[in-house]
Amino acid sequence: MTQSNTADALLLPTEMESAIRSAIHTAERILCVSHVSPDGDAIGSLLGMGWILRHVGKQPTLALADKPARDFDYIPGYDSIVGADQVKDAYDLIICLDASSQDRMGDIYRPAAHSQIPLLVIDHHITNTNFGSLNWVQPKCAAVCQMLVYLADALGAPLEGNLAIALLTGLITDTLGFRTSNTDAAVLQAAMRLTAGGASIHQIVARTLNSRTFSGMRLWGGVLSEAKLEGRVIWATVSQAQRKAARAQDSDGEGLSGFLISAQEADISATFIERTDRAGETVVECSFRAKPGFDVSEVALGYGGGGHPPAAGCTLAGDLQTVAADVVAALRQARQTQAGKQQRERQLARREELLANG
Ligand code: AMP
Ligand code: MN
Ligand code: MN
Repeated sequence: MTQSNTADALLLPTEMESAIRSAIHTAERILCVSHVSPDGDAIGSLLGMGWILRHVGKQPTLALADKPARDFDYIPGYDSIVGADQVKDAYDLIICLDASSQDRMGDIYRPAAHSQIPLLVIDHHITNTNFGSLNWVQPKCAAVCQMLVYLADALGAPLEGNLAIALLTGLITDTLGFRTSNTDAAVLQAAMRLTAGGASIHQIVARTLNSRTFSGMRLWGGVLSEAKLEGRVIWATVSQAQRKAARAQDSDGEGLSGFLISAQEADISATFIERTDRAGETVVECSFRAKPGFDVSEVALGYGGGGHPPAAGCTLAGDLQTVAADVVAALRQARQTQAGKQQRERQLARREELLANG
């Protein structure tokens, strides 16, 4: 059953639909991959793509560079996800989901072995670098899982059972439970269809947005007590020592910048989390959020990261406090420029209104 309407057709144009359909149908060995530090949309879209492909008779390999958090083990197929050690050299097609640039695939994508293989990129980040041989990038979609609802329609995969649970997960986590500014009628319509297909909003929310560890709460307590607010930018740092003292898990810093942006006194929030990367280097994971009307994706892109206007991030080498100071200065500068532009636009609108009213 296909329920495509005009909105869906705009989000998955006919030419793109046939290009994707033929790329999938002509491939036998398919590798699907999503981004490092996978979130709900990364894991949901990876597993959802797996179910769509199985529906059309394929047996894809689903791979992630970092182990997905156990929080997501309710999604059918969770145990089938493999790490870099099980990724081969030869495939007919690689499908990359929810990643804005090639490096976001981490160790899974090895250019020396994989660069000649057709690469289908399915993503919704405005900062996407179009690094595939075929790029379906739709920033109007709130999650890649929403895009896969339209792809499932195109390939005749029913939105029910395993597929519905996987796709509703990404829609719920990327929209923070249908609360972000990009939650429009198309998002709700997609969610409604997945719910009708048997996926449960409250069960997914219970395992994701409403689930925290006690160690995470203790970490947040310490970190929040030292948060700083400067020029309507609120920010906090999380050192490895703080994480160790709170016995925090890797994922315990997630959601912190989303919480900080709720401060009435701030337009932009940032968190800086110190980690050791695979090469043993100290890196700082930077996570940014912005209130409607402000944009953090450009600053993230400037530092080699990416994201969306209201939520973006980057990973930088260097000392925690130095990185934080540099990046906060850039965010304050961006905020000031954007606030100035908003003010000029408001003045212009007021002048036009006065002129129109005689
Ligand atoms: P997060 O703050 O980790 O929830 O990420 C917010 C948004 O920024 C997501 O859309 C991510 O895909 C993007 N993002 C975060 N970190 C990076 C990074 N190091 N490089 C590119 N994009 C990133
Ligand atoms: Mn993601
Ligand atoms: Mn996403």
